[in-house]
Amino acid sequence: MAKDYYGILGVPREASADEIKRAYRQLARQFHPDVNPDPAAQERFKEISSAYEVLSDPKKREIVDLGGDPLAPGAAGPGGGAGPFVGFQDIMDAFFGTSTARGPRPRTRPGGDAILRLELDLHETAFGVEAPISVDTAVVCTTCTGAGTAPGTHPTSCDTCGGRGEVQTVQRTFLGQVVSARPCPACHGFGSVITHPCQKCGGDGRMRARRNLTVKIPPGVEDGMRIRLAQQGEVGPGGGPPGDLYVEIHERPHDVFSRKGDDLHCRVTVPMTAAALGTRLTIKTLDSEETVDVRPGTQPGASLRLRGRGVPHLRGTGRGDLQVHLDVRTPTKLSVDEERILRDFARQRGEEVAELSRKQGGFLSFMRDAFNGHA
Ligand code: ZN
Repeated sequence: MAKDYYGILGVPREASADEIKRAYRQLARQFHPDVNPDPAAQERFKEISSAYEVLSDPKKREIVDLGGDPLAPGAAGPGGGAGPFVGFQDIMDAFFGTSTARGPRPRTRPGGDAILRLELDLHETAFGVEAPISVDTAVVCTTCTGAGTAPGTHPTSCDTCGGRGEVQTVQRTFLGQVVSARPCPACHGFGSVITHPCQKCGGDGRMRARRNLTVKIPPGVEDGMRIRLAQQGEVGPGGGPPGDLYVEIHERPHDVFSRKGDDLHCRVTVPMTAAALGTRLTIKTLDSEETVDVRPGTQPGASLRLRGRGVPHLRGTGRGDLQVHLDVRTPTKLSVDEERILRDFARQRGEEVAELSRKQGGFLSFMRDAFNGHA
């Protein structure tokens, strides 16, 4: 049975040549192996190409319309498949005539961006710092100033491509003659060859160098943030414009403060008696000393908020807070006298406590039980 070439392209039997062309272009965009890696798509594309080969040729189309198959084995004329493989871009070029000469590519190209890790203390991220940094980067070659040629010499025009930077191949396909251009393999598309490369940079036009810079870190930066230093990255090949340098902030953990956004947190231990009776604490913040009152009857886990003693906001004014978490410490080693006082205290409050032998549960668990009973 003859293949349904119209069905494969999804066009009616009376479709015009233009409609057939459009349908093929559409399907090639969808199923060409260059754009669709699915193996099934490759089979589908072969089918689509066969259908187009047949329906775009008036003679072959006539055979189809008479119920025959011009590609069937033994059929008259050449054929038997989708012909030579044609790249996706070449198909588009064949349809749109976009195979215009792109010309040689410039030797001078922009340089790449670079990234540098910078470790800072909390004090530095909070209040800003001018940090010296040292980058290992590519700079313009001092001998050839980027040209890549030995002193007194110049690049010569490439013989292979005649200076065009590309070579053309002509393929006979079912689409007709397809001309495709590829970068010239001899000069890598530059159109010229450096016959006497600069000894210092090997023709690249740049060399490695260590540069020392100072980066201004604004107050309030956070771990993971990047600061962009425009045009401080690598110089491009052929002395092209430099890329950018990004400095990535890494904040070292602090002994006392942990940071959440612009708020700081710390823990302070107060004795059980101070929590019960109230006390006054001196807190060393990042940049000041503050006196705060712990109210009588403060519970374990309570916290105090010191407004504006956190990290300055990076944008806008003001600062985060410092949250002081209070750990209430229960005494662990009681003298005989202290134990007597605590027992009296418990008795006065009607908190009956069991007599535990010190050998048994240990004094620690005894105290814990007593206070849990009170809570
Ligand atoms: Zn050089």
